[in-house]
Amino acid sequence: MHEFGIVVHVVDTLEKLATENDLTEIASVTLEIGEVSSVLPDYIVDAWKYLHKKSAVLTDAELKIERLPAVSICLDCKKTYPTLEGKKQCPHCGGFMTELVSGDEFNIKEIEGC
Ligand SMILES: [Zn+2]
Repeated sequence: MHEFGIVVHVVDTLEKLATENDLTEIASVTLEIGEVSSVLPDYIVDAWKYLHKKSAVLTDAELKIERLPAVSICLDCKKTYPTLEGKKQCPHCGGFMTELVSGDEFNIKEIEGC
């Protein structure tokens, strides 16, 4: 479970952002997590519940998570498709030369101050 370490890092980043922006409290944090990211949102939420109360600026912060759809491209026919539907095989031509275009993101999208 590497999510705990990730949330520790997120909390550090948010504390720095709060200091830089003169925020004494953060009201909400939005994270973007790609559909095929190795980061599991459920574990992020669990780690967050434990960690955010230890940070003065994040005590009352609400965590929001947005999933980003995963998209793959086929190198043979150059068409894109939803990764979760076709996995590594292109549904258009049946080719296996495919690459992930997006869907493995993990970003802090936005924070809202009080
Ligand atoms: Zn194809």
